[in-house]
Parts: sequence; structure tokens; C-alpha cells
Amino acid sequence: VRIFTAGLATETNSFSPFATGQQAFEDYGLIRGDPRGADDIMSRGAALLTTLAGADGHEVVAGLRTFAQPGGLTPRSVYETLRDDVLQDAIARGPFEAVILQLHGAMMAEGYDDCEGDMLSRLRHALGRHVFIGAVLDPHAHLTAEMTASADVLAFMKEYPHTDGAERLETVYRLCIAARAGAVGLATATVDMRMLGIWPTTGGAMRTFVDEILQREGRDGVHLVNVVHGFPWGDCADNGAKVQVVADDERIARRVALETAERFWAIREETRLTTLTIDEGLDRVGRCPGLVVLADAGDNPGGGAASESTFVLRRALERRTRDLGFGYFWDPVSVRLCAEAGTGARIPLRIGGKVGPASGDPVDVEAHVRGVGQIATENFSGSLSQLGQCAWVEVDGIHLILTSLRSQPFGPDGFGALGLDVSSLKGVVVKSTQHFRYGFGAIASEVHILGTPGTISMDLTRIPFRKRGLDYWPRVARSDLHG
Ligand SMILES: [Zn+2]
Repeated sequence: VRIFTAGLATETNSFSPFATGQQAFEDYGLIRGDPRGADDIMSRGAALLTTLAGADGHEVVAGLRTFAQPGGLTPRSVYETLRDDVLQDAIARGPFEAVILQLHGAMMAEGYDDCEGDMLSRLRHALGRHVFIGAVLDPHAHLTAEMTASADVLAFMKEYPHTDGAERLETVYRLCIAARAGAVGLATATVDMRMLGIWPTTGGAMRTFVDEILQREGRDGVHLVNVVHGFPWGDCADNGAKVQVVADDERIARRVALETAERFWAIREETRLTTLTIDEGLDRVGRCPGLVVLADAGDNPGGGAASESTFVLRRALERRTRDLGFGYFWDPVSVRLCAEAGTGARIPLRIGGKVGPASGDPVDVEAHVRGVGQIATENFSGSLSQLGQCAWVEVDGIHLILTSLRSQPFGPDGFGALGLDVSSLKGVVVKSTQHFRYGFGAIASEVHILGTPGTISMDLTRIPFRKRGLDYWPRVARSDLHG
């Protein structure tokens, strides 16, 4: 079996103040060629496929792999060029019996509310019905009818933080081989939950739920139980949580999809994200004997925010909080000023609030430059996340990490790379919602999500949708899943 693989992913926030253009993809690389040995997350996926297929005597041909940090809409020509690169490669280097893609599921471009559906349907049209088409996607996806109709198998990651990409990719590969041998059927059934939410899977009822659905897969004709969380800040008709089951026949798929949906609906209240106000969060710093990690969720670049809002910083300075770290402020201009002045210098800096009103007002400070350098920080599963040139500055006992590239902290590595040991601090404010737990989970004594203002404010009842209906829970109370 000859398999073509490629990756194109970003998560589009319709309310982000800036476009996700060509440079945003180039920042992370337009990567081609043999994926083995590369350290970006998509090449690692392609390398895994190559190894799995190689062991079975099959061949994998890898095309383009590219990812952009989430932001606003992608310009039409940028999306079409990337899409056509993948399509033309899949045709020109064929024939292939299968195509397995790494996608996001919430990518939107000018004129395209459903980039993944567009891409999969063009691929299907070009390659025909007999070619297996599968994809691994992020759970923060808008699952559409076009995506379902165009692909044989869609596998959504189950974990948040998304640490299970390799497992889901292996499942798609195994189903591809089994389906081609006629050993399994690939019937799907989908239930629209008409819910919006943020569902970390690291604890509580959501952890139990994910463990339960993992138990259902691979037995009794059930191949995949997808729980698609949805990405609340994408303004499109298909936005929202969904359950999709892939099984040997439609009857099994429908029954398990309905059972899973009922179970998800039943735990909606206990899995609701709870947040603290900025002051409640800062109150914990110093009172808790260990490290307090506060998530500035409204300004998470991983959801398309600018990562430079000043709401928490301003309040911490007013309260004279000390031994508090912040990561990361996206501020290439200030990084440049720090690099020019050099480590040890004391310089005036205007921090944050530069991109737009969602970031709040800038804060003028007298900064002590404590360190300058390039950072490539460790991301999930050993892949590297680039932050570019960075600076560590101190302002009255508050420590800020400023970066040239926009990214959320996955752990303390980025702080440590410039010499800031987070164990010397009482608190760290991370511009992240959940992925920071990957590296901070083990060293934090307390973790709190702050209900901060910003591009991805956690109040899901007030998202100013234009294309999506407003009849979703929790905006509208419903007593049962079907009501
Ligand atoms: Zn996600």
C-alpha cells in the first residue's frame, strides 16, 4: 500500500484582531522531505506513519507539513496555495491507495468557513472513491457534514492537553489497512450536542469520561468514539461540540454515539470550567506555600489571542505583588530594545496593549534587563516550539518573559532558558488555558484559571456570533440533550 501524508493546520479565531497569513505558517516552517529526524510535531507524526507502514511492508510518501499559531482569518490566496500544494502533490506523486492527513478542524479562510471540508472533498474528487482518506484532528474542531462525507475516518484527539496525536494517528493507519483488506466496516454516526465549552481532560468527570470512551474502542465493532469539543471562537454555522462514532455498521455507530452523547450531556454541569477573578487569583500568590500558577486564559495565543494583554500585569503592579513571573508577552519591539541595551541595563519599556483594545492599555515601566537569548522550548512529545529572540526583564520583583514569536508556555523551559528559575517564584501567570499543564502540572501547588478579558474570554454566553445560531448550552438552558 502506498500512502501519502501531509499536514496543514491552524485554529481560526474569528474575533482575533490580526490575520493568519503566509508569515504565520513560515514562522513554524513549510516543511517537506523525509520527516524522520525532524523535530516539529507534524513531521514527528509523518515519521511515525513511515515507521508503522514500513514495519508492515507499506510505503509512505510525505508532502508539505505546516502549522500556524492560531489567529484571525487566513487570506484566501494563502489558504488556496497551501491547499493546492497538498492536492497537487497527492496527485502528481501517486498513484496512492491511501491519504492520511494531519489537520486542525477549525481552520477558516476568506471565502472558506470549513477549510478541512473543502480540502478533503477536493481530495476525494481528485482521487476517487476507492482511495482511503483519513485524518487526525484537534478536538477543538468544527465537525461538518462535508468533512464526514469526504473522509473514510476522522480521528479527533481525546486529550486536552493534546498529548495523544501519535495514538490517534496509529488508529487511523490501522483502520486504513484493515478497511483495505475488507476486515472492518467504516460506518459513522454523528450527534450534535448543541453545547459550547472548554473541557480539560486532566481530572474530574472529564477524565473519567475519556477513560470510558477509550475502553469502548476496538471491541464489539466500535472503532472510534470521537468527542469533538468544538472551538467556541470560530464564527461558523457548524461550531459546537459533537460526538461521532465510527463502527462496523450504522446501527452500532448510532447506538454508541447516542449513549456517548447522553453521558457527555449528563456531566455538563460538573465539567463546567470555573474561573477566579484577577484579584482572587493574585490573593493566592504568597498565601499558598508552593508555586501558584494562574492561567490568563483570555489572552491565550493558542486560541488566537495576541498574548500581550496587561490586565493581570497592571493589577499585580498596583498590588505590589513580588516574585511573580509572566510568560509570554509577544513583543518583538521590546525584545529588540533589550538586546540593544544588553543584559544588566535599565531601560524604559512600554509593555503590551499594542495590538488592539482586547489587550488593554500599554504599561510603561522601568525595566531591568536580566537576560536575552534565543529560545526553542520543548513542546509535547519531544517536538520543539520556537519563540525566537527573547528577553527576561524585571520590574519591581515582577519578572516578564518577552518573545519575538507568539506562543503559549507549555512548561517552565522557556523561563529557565533565559536563567529565570520558576522555583524561586511564588507565582507564574501563563497566557494559556490548559496546555501549560504539560510542564507546570507537576511543579504547581495550585492552578487557577482566571476569567480575564481578551480575545478568548471564557464567558461563552457572550461570544458575538453572526453566522452561528445562539441556541446552544450554556447560553440557552435545556433540560435534556434532545430538548
Ligand atoms: Zn485544541
